[in-house]
Amino acid sequence: MSVKILIAPPASGKTQSAVDYVYQTLKQRPLAPVWVILPDREHTAVFQRRLAAAGGAMGAQIGTLGDLYHEILERAGQAYPLASNTVINTLLRSVLETLDQQGDLQHYSSIRSKPGFLQVLRDRFAELKRGLVLPEAFEQASQEKTPGLAEMARIYRAYQEKLHAIGWADREGLSWLALETLQTTPALLKDWQLAVVDGFVDFTPTQHRALRLLAETVPELVITLPGERDMERQVHRRSQRALEALSSRLDPQIDYLGAQTRLPEALSHLERRLFAGGQGPVSSNDHIHLLEVRSAAEEAREALRWLKALIVRERIPPEQCAIFTQEPDLHYRFLREAADEFGMPLRFTWGEILAQSPPVAALIGLLELPTQDFPRREILDAVRCPYFELETVGLKPRDAALLELVSLNGQVTGGQAQWRAALENLIAMPAKTASESSPLPATQEESDTLGEDRSLPELPQGEQAQRLANSLFKLILTLQAGPQRSMQAWIAWLVELLEQIHFVERCENQAWDALQEALRELMMSAMISATDAVPYGAFVLAFRSAMEGCSYKPEKEAHGVLAGRLVEAQGLRFQAVAILGLSEGIFPVVEKADPFIDEATRAELGLEAQIGRDQAGIYYQALTRSDAHLLLTRPYLAEGGEAWEASHYWRAVASLFPDSIQRVRGEEIRLLENAASPQEALFWSVRQERRPQSDESLMKRAAFVEHGRQVLQARLADECQGPYEGFPTALQGELSRRFSSDHVWSASRLESYASCPQRFYVDNALVLEAKQAPELGFNALQLGSMLHSILEQTYRRARDPRDIESVKASLSQAMTEEFTQAPQRYGFRPSPLWEAERAELSRRLVRCVENLAAESAGWTPVAFEQAFGIRGAPPLRMDTGAGVVLVRGFIDRVDRNADGELRVVDYKTGGSHLSKNDLIAGYRLQLPLYALGARQALALGEPVEGLYWNISAGEAGTLKLSKFEHQERSGIEAAIQTVNDHVARIVNGVRAAQFPPLPPKGGCPSYCPAAAWCWRYEPGF
Ligand code: SF4
Repeated sequence: MSVKILIAPPASGKTQSAVDYVYQTLKQRPLAPVWVILPDREHTAVFQRRLAAAGGAMGAQIGTLGDLYHEILERAGQAYPLASNTVINTLLRSVLETLDQQGDLQHYSSIRSKPGFLQVLRDRFAELKRGLVLPEAFEQASQEKTPGLAEMARIYRAYQEKLHAIGWADREGLSWLALETLQTTPALLKDWQLAVVDGFVDFTPTQHRALRLLAETVPELVITLPGERDMERQVHRRSQRALEALSSRLDPQIDYLGAQTRLPEALSHLERRLFAGGQGPVSSNDHIHLLEVRSAAEEAREALRWLKALIVRERIPPEQCAIFTQEPDLHYRFLREAADEFGMPLRFTWGEILAQSPPVAALIGLLELPTQDFPRREILDAVRCPYFELETVGLKPRDAALLELVSLNGQVTGGQAQWRAALENLIAMPAKTASESSPLPATQEESDTLGEDRSLPELPQGEQAQRLANSLFKLILTLQAGPQRSMQAWIAWLVELLEQIHFVERCENQAWDALQEALRELMMSAMISATDAVPYGAFVLAFRSAMEGCSYKPEKEAHGVLAGRLVEAQGLRFQAVAILGLSEGIFPVVEKADPFIDEATRAELGLEAQIGRDQAGIYYQALTRSDAHLLLTRPYLAEGGEAWEASHYWRAVASLFPDSIQRVRGEEIRLLENAASPQEALFWSVRQERRPQSDESLMKRAAFVEHGRQVLQARLADECQGPYEGFPTALQGELSRRFSSDHVWSASRLESYASCPQRFYVDNALVLEAKQAPELGFNALQLGSMLHSILEQTYRRARDPRDIESVKASLSQAMTEEFTQAPQRYGFRPSPLWEAERAELSRRLVRCVENLAAESAGWTPVAFEQAFGIRGAPPLRMDTGAGVVLVRGFIDRVDRNADGELRVVDYKTGGSHLSKNDLIAGYRLQLPLYALGARQALALGEPVEGLYWNISAGEAGTLKLSKFEHQERSGIEAAIQTVNDHVARIVNGVRAAQFPPLPPKGGCPSYCPAAAWCWRYEPGF
């Protein structure tokens, strides 16, 4: 048996020699079985192409070590089902439960069901197996060490026994079985003539064993390794280690191939001098580029742009280009986005987690609805979800909006009971009757008039609510498939559900294929574990963790630029290679000790150390993959904007090629011919104030971008001006018509403009409404309605509204009635604090009427909830600088004194903006308007006083109309004149389409509909 090891630096002909060996052997003995063993499928595809190019691959088996193991077992007539991650997880779960029940799990008991822990166990056991560490050896090594290590060893043994008992094998276990078989029956491979092992830098103990057995079995074994005669350099540490191990076990003939590489001088110099010190810098001659950019996103863009330029200008095939990164999670999204924009196909070596694919994530959300008792947001998401067809239960996507209204009105936070109560409440309210009997305002007009304290949501009622209830509970019933079933039965139920909701037709192909595969594995693991019936929650948990353990590729790209991990670069060759992420902390990675198997035990077991890993060797391998062009990139700004240091690996290359370093700054002028996409060409040209004239589609985009620029410029300006910042003059005609002299204004609309014109525009012209997610208990609007209603009933029913005892007796009755009915009438869900809140509100209301009585000496309440301009009552007609303006309103209470003079009282739930200055600023206009309304529209008499009454505080606001002073005028007429001026200004402003966003003093109200997006938003009350 001859063993030959071929050693040469990268790009010096190792793989070509391997190809020649195979070719010559097949040429001499065309029927001789020849095996070529490579690290992975990427390598096998390349080798196949090269062998075909050399003259023919007929007769050669080209595969991985995994393929070799399968071949051995197949020849031996042994078949072991391969356990997938899902199956392994199931076995591990079962093992952990058994150990826990036996009291053998203390240290890891609390985390035994966490998906992350299962992943840790899978990784560590695979590593132990690759290291040929048997359970006994691990137990031996764990003795008298930490409790965690001893438990890990116990789990390892129990897992291995379980796997053995069911006759399955995991991937690493398969190699053990195959090698044991080969050892006992070497004749299995007796017909082999040649085995060639190429593309490896180092071997695990299992792989060494495989090579030793091959060397004993196959007449000729050829192994290639990167390196040189003098292997002292740090970058050859792994090869040196492999060579020593092979030499001690196989007695090989070692051939050092000529060190003459086919690389351009710069790349050859890099290979020879990396980490070697000595020689001074040389020119990169355009073969090596080092690019510093601001962020990881820009790294992805720059790398792809550089590759695209080579593909287009140098005619390098995309398959001859590669990008490598140490941080796939960091760069993946950016690479995908840039590749989509640049129109470049990318082949990623890694996939995405299936549970995070949009359709599967939505499915997990749907299945989890019953386990969380149908929470509000998740129900709405499920009804809206484009991956489900819920018409079979009678729900359409647009029903989500109605259900949202139901939930807002009924304060549904979640739970079947809440949904049922909210819908039943509405079913009992046929539209017409509901409007008439509702304690809430009956129309939008009334709602505006009452102000922000009380507004009217639009709700499905009666039959429409009934239909929604039927559909929603049909869905709930569908998802509540019973208490217990076997896992197989649950999976069958899920498959049926997927058909019912037409998931297959709506799910993307790749995700659906992966989901099907995952379900098959789940079914398989259910059959293996043969557990009894499990509750629905356990099934959903198992389903979720199976989806989290599977990966999928959103696109099936057979061709294109390869995007892989740094460690996957070894052994491959390309024309152009980009390596990303060469800043401190990304690569080399900051090494940390393994918290599960400590360094000392690793050394004892022969596992790879976690501290002092050979990252330099991985870097060297990646750097030497290119035959012509190499790009290194690094981000120079951290997320917070501070400088990010280059890694010493970057500096090692930079010191050899200082002329190749370039820093890309954001403001830099770029040559348009280097743009990689129309979007980029356009962006650069606009920044350079040049317009692309040639391309029609670019012209359209240019106009669009120019529009965006103008909008942005307006929004960034200190002073609001122009059509994009509150002055949409094109709307003047429309607004003048809509808010003409026939329009009846409410005080709250006028106030809304005065406090912020943009808020008025969004609220009233665009009619947008801010929606607050419901919470337990009443909201501010419902509280306002309750308190107003109680006070109205109190004074209206009091035997003598001037007598406080009579008022308090009436108050007691009104509170009892109102609080008892409030949850149903106002559609809120009492919180656990409801009784305490009632007590507190009662206490405040008693204090409120007492204090109001004290403040009302000489005044008798004579009218309540007096409407003008609404419900058939004539509006207030004001002569203003904007012409005649009609106003409507509800006056909470009108008092009269012995002289027949009037006082208007407006109740307020809160205490903000109730001062004189708020009238002067225009934030509060109600009192003077109501005084005018009482006098002119309602002809109740002559008002001489007006005040806001703060119900919560039980005191009057500081503004009293009789004491108002402004611009050398005083008294109620001064207040009326002030409000007149404001009304003219506001109405003129609205008709002239003047709506600048001006945050009110004290900040923007959280209920401003624009608060979610307004660029001038200032947090306030
Ligand atoms: S967020 Fe503030 S500035 Fe913007 S519209 Fe609302 S109130 Fe005005």
